Amino acid sequence: MSKEERSLNFIELIIEEDLAKGMKRDDLRFRFPPEPNGYLHIGHASSICLNFGLGLRYNAPVNLRFDDTNPAKEEQEYVDAIKRDVEWLGFKWAEECYASDYFQELYDWAVMFIERGLAYVDSQTSEQMALQKGTPTQPGTESPYRNRPIEENLELFRKMKDGELPEGSHVLRAKIDMTSSNMLMRDPIMYRILHKHHHRTGDKWHIYPMYDWAHGESDYIERISHSLCTLEFAMHRELYDWFLNQIYTEGKMRPKQREFARRNLSHTVVSKRKLLQLVQEGHVKGWDDPRMSTISGLRRRGYTPASIRNFADTIGIAKRTNLIDVSLLEFCVREDLNKVAPRVMAVLDPVKLIIDNYPEGQEEWLDAENNPEDENAGSRKVPFSKELYIERDDFMENANSKYFRLTLGKEVRLKNAYIIKGESVVKDENGNITEIHVTYDPDSKSGSGTEASLRKIKGTIHWVSVNHALEAEVRVYDRLFTHENPDGDKEVDFKSYINPDSLNVITGYLEPSLENAKAGENYQFQRLGYFCVDPDSTAQKLVFNKTVGLRDTWAKIENKE
Ligand code: ATP
Ligand code: MG
Repeated sequence: MSKEERSLNFIELIIEEDLAKGMKRDDLRFRFPPEPNGYLHIGHASSICLNFGLGLRYNAPVNLRFDDTNPAKEEQEYVDAIKRDVEWLGFKWAEECYASDYFQELYDWAVMFIERGLAYVDSQTSEQMALQKGTPTQPGTESPYRNRPIEENLELFRKMKDGELPEGSHVLRAKIDMTSSNMLMRDPIMYRILHKHHHRTGDKWHIYPMYDWAHGESDYIERISHSLCTLEFAMHRELYDWFLNQIYTEGKMRPKQREFARRNLSHTVVSKRKLLQLVQEGHVKGWDDPRMSTISGLRRRGYTPASIRNFADTIGIAKRTNLIDVSLLEFCVREDLNKVAPRVMAVLDPVKLIIDNYPEGQEEWLDAENNPEDENAGSRKVPFSKELYIERDDFMENANSKYFRLTLGKEVRLKNAYIIKGESVVKDENGNITEIHVTYDPDSKSGSGTEASLRKIKGTIHWVSVNHALEAEVRVYDRLFTHENPDGDKEVDFKSYINPDSLNVITGYLEPSLENAKAGENYQFQRLGYFCVDPDSTAQKLVFNKTVGLRDTWAKIENKE
């Protein structure tokens, strides 16, 4: 859908209202603020498309901001992966920013808070503080350290910063209101002591700011006009504004936090913490395992940037959290690949077909169209010979009149080739078919224009010449979770829903045009689905991932149950 065709979403309406009230277009500025504690997932794609989409719509800068305030969980590997994924999705950030670049400024402001009686060092344990928090209906209790003299606070805070005090011994808290109906306003923690090495600031800091303290202030420093986050931060908005009130200087851009609903996808989890568990416990092969809901997993699986952007645009943004069916994501990739993926022939469950009246040792290179959806895609040659592989389930010995694939005594067309007729079968001692014998009509070659070639035949099946076939490893995936919402019930471990049969590795036989296929390339294996070349491929052996079938088979299976 083009931007012009749809009505404005509620975030765009907020922006339009701000513009109507006098905000300058040139002052619009957005950011996408991931914490580098894991790889981005399909939920993040919604946030990326929202923020960068606003940047494109309003011709405004969008920063990529790493919210790197917790060195215990953050790593450079994740920073690199996040940059790669945002770029791959097709977006360009204005500036690459890090909350850690603002640590000094944040510290200086915190000192100012102490000097103005707006913050104090609390020396209680976290258990003691928890007991004083109160409940939503009961006010909290003030800490005995709340009225500590300013000088003492300053001295302790300096020692915290310089690493002279042990972890957990002290925190810096904002002095707000222990009776507030919003629990987050009850003297929230601004800093905790962490003697941890930070991937960018090294060992310089021994205190690290909390999210609420760092986030709005980072927005302020970067002059962000609209700071968009997910709904779980709605209650944090009051605190976001309180912090800004204390540091705001008249005339500067005052960022505005607005919330939208998280996007969850069925049959998977979208939480870096849970995805990390899947990686660490070996349920998948890594963050980019093609079964993962990560952007890198989807890329390896064969998803295109356009398909993910279309998915995000199609679901749009909402004010209420809900579960999006993964079949919509699959629809989006199918739709895109149908337009761009070259068609090839591959047989994944082979049975040998022998054309009795085709000359021994003869081979022909037949014309095959690369993509009927794209007239510029051209054509290629595929080799044809006496012995072919076809799919086992494209043959049925005793078929009824509704069966339009190969059977004995009836005709089908071999795609791009000839019309054949089933004659007989050879079976092994267990009754399994090992060879299907057919005869062909030499005048019926596709595209030859002869009367025989124009005969209407109901069924067409694909094939690969045995002598020319490339053997490849094909990885066929199923849902990683059997439950629609594995994360939905807090009482049940999401891992108990892991599908034990989510990966099936088979050997496929491919037409030789694929010999030089490169990692990341997408193909349609005709009549089977979309497949892409996995980076595990070598010159000796191609490896393919199945991206998605041509039709939605899962919906059919579920309806039957
Ligand atoms: P996770 O729980 O997976 O770590 P997070 O919200 O903690 O998610 P961040 O790195 O803090 O991850 O997220 C960066 C941005 O992406 C935030 O603005 C966040 O609100 C947004 N985001 C994260 N998950 C989703 C989701 N499922 N749907 C929409 N936006 C999301
Ligand atoms: Mg987070």
